[in-house]
Amino acid sequence: MLQWGRSSSLRRLERTFIEKVPEWKESKKKDTGELTVLLEEERTIPPKPHFTNKANIKDESIYESASKDPEKFWENFANQLYWFKKWNKVLEWNPPYARWFVGGRLNISYNCIDRHIHTGKRNKAALIWEGEPGEERCLTYWDLYREVNKFTNVLYNLGVRKGDVVTIYMPMIPELPIAMLACTRLGAIHSVVFGGFSAEALSDRINDAEAKLLITADGGYRRGNFLTLKHIADEALQKTPTIKNVIVVRRGNFPVKMKEGRDHWYHELMQDAPSYYRPEPMDSEDILYILYTSGTTGKPKGIIHTTGGYLTGVYATTKWVFDLKDDDVYWCTADIGWVTGHSYIVYGLLALGATVIMYEGAPDWPERDRFWAIIEKYGVTIFYTAPTAIRAFMKWGEELPKKHNLSSLRLLGTVGEPINPEAWMWYYKNIGQERCPIVDTWWQTETGMILITPLPGLTTLKPGSATKPFPGIIADVLDEKGNSISVGGGYLAIKKPWPAMLRGIYKDLDRYVKQYWSKWSKDIYFTGDGVKRDEDGYFWLLGRVDDVMNVAGHRISTMEVESALISHPIVAESAVVGIFHEIKGQAIVAFVILKEGNKPSLEKEEELKEHVVKKIGKIARPEKIIFTPELPKTRSGKIMRRLLRDIAESRVLGDVTTLADPGIIEELKKKYEGKE
Ligand code: ATP
Ligand code: MG
Repeated sequence: MLQWGRSSSLRRLERTFIEKVPEWKESKKKDTGELTVLLEEERTIPPKPHFTNKANIKDESIYESASKDPEKFWENFANQLYWFKKWNKVLEWNPPYARWFVGGRLNISYNCIDRHIHTGKRNKAALIWEGEPGEERCLTYWDLYREVNKFTNVLYNLGVRKGDVVTIYMPMIPELPIAMLACTRLGAIHSVVFGGFSAEALSDRINDAEAKLLITADGGYRRGNFLTLKHIADEALQKTPTIKNVIVVRRGNFPVKMKEGRDHWYHELMQDAPSYYRPEPMDSEDILYILYTSGTTGKPKGIIHTTGGYLTGVYATTKWVFDLKDDDVYWCTADIGWVTGHSYIVYGLLALGATVIMYEGAPDWPERDRFWAIIEKYGVTIFYTAPTAIRAFMKWGEELPKKHNLSSLRLLGTVGEPINPEAWMWYYKNIGQERCPIVDTWWQTETGMILITPLPGLTTLKPGSATKPFPGIIADVLDEKGNSISVGGGYLAIKKPWPAMLRGIYKDLDRYVKQYWSKWSKDIYFTGDGVKRDEDGYFWLLGRVDDVMNVAGHRISTMEVESALISHPIVAESAVVGIFHEIKGQAIVAFVILKEGNKPSLEKEEELKEHVVKKIGKIARPEKIIFTPELPKTRSGKIMRRLLRDIAESRVLGDVTTLADPGIIEELKKKYEGKE
């Protein structure tokens, strides 16, 4: 039986006490940083012998050896890459500034492509692409080699040089990774902007990075529509004086305006491009890319990643977390516009010479079983997706995956948000058919690589827990003062540098220090996330610290109340926020999406409130439940609780530029007001 921090009888006593003596709350746990832990999940799933027998990692002792000498541990992975010049020093750490593999020289496109064409992988499928309308393209490692070399020459001929920034604004088509790899080949810094962003978001990001060239496409397919990217780019380009050239990929044969002297067709430039470009030997600490965060908590930050450490980190985690083998067919459903796509569609996978599936469109087009159809069609073995998608699949029902043969799958993964235990179990049963381990991987744009995760051949899984830090990662649960909380809830902190860590925020060095390295001391990284640690040392992510609610002196995570709601059979998804309350400090408001076929009613509202009480206690009883067909999410699919708070407290909305569908907010506002 797991106990979080204090015994449950003591907790019960506290609850009664708080209700009777409101003043008492003032002194309780106010600013200690500790979180009250309510949810207890006791299911465990040990690794299955059929998996462990063949796993890349099955020896527990790697945790100990890695923590004894993390530098040696990472160096061992760096040695598996190709370096033009070896490093003199693994790590130089002047907190909060780290340099990894100091003095080493390497090239990322060489590691992701050239290395493989000298081996049996020359004709192996590198990218298997499926367009939303159903077209297929397969690029072998040799094809990729040819395309990337030619496109590097194209960039060079348009004046792009080492250190220049190139912005990429594209749909999910093979030319997107080709463009990224070509940048790395000549040493240009890429800044990929998600293809669903508006003209304003694009021009902001171009201007922030002072990009010299833009690569885009006529458009892409999404939910049966052709979304015109070039038109949006044209609007953005009116405000971006640094862009001298624009390269346009023809995806759909849609009419676009090409500006003479500035705009060029990709296929025309490629026609006569030379077939080889010598890969630039980059310094290990040269900038590889800039990537803006999803903007869940506020204005996006331009995160800087460098070359040698980043590739080492994503290579190591791809190999061990995804247990990657030569014959795997790997599919990550993220968009390459997010860090997940950078690290775990492009760089980690290609560095290992894997076969990667890339899909252009929506999961519900033409039908809601498209993902399962793709898995069946290509025999996908490893499938990596987001909790938000899993909750949508739950809402759509288990009949859809049942229509397909998913027996090729051997490993599942999730990333992006905490996964609620019920969603985890649904995924485990209906997609993994209780055969596939699930790796719940915690990481951030800033961390560049997965930091907290199971190792699938080794770790006993607990639904809803990202389990343990990856070997060599020293993570801790800290209170406000920086004391370690051995069992209980607090802030997630990383106490040693890791190779793929961010090196800064573009053009905002102060913010780098303030945001990440100032909460306790300048050698401890503050993640901004809440977490609890159980008695087995497992980490349970609780969501953003900014979202934590303070109810009658208890700091409660949104994640636990949401998980309690989702464990009710009629609930598909939920988001809770704390709003001002005279007596309790904050009261809980829950926004709830019901599963298909259920209609909102007062009885259901009461039933759900009682369900939360039953599951996790009276303290977490929602004051109000608002039924809604949708929730405001970022374009990467994360729930934006700060906007829900703004609605619930009748404030002017904060930054909405990263919001996926502004219509939802208007609807929710109306609903909320009608309710009061
Ligand atoms: P911003 O920093 O601009 O608010 P963001 O934090 O949403 O945006 P990302 O870097 O894409 O941008 O997301 C990282 C965050 O996603 C983590 O800090 C964490 O809150 C959440 N997250 C990612 N993976 C997991 C996971 N497996 N479990 C729990 N939370 C996760
Ligand atoms: Mg963040």
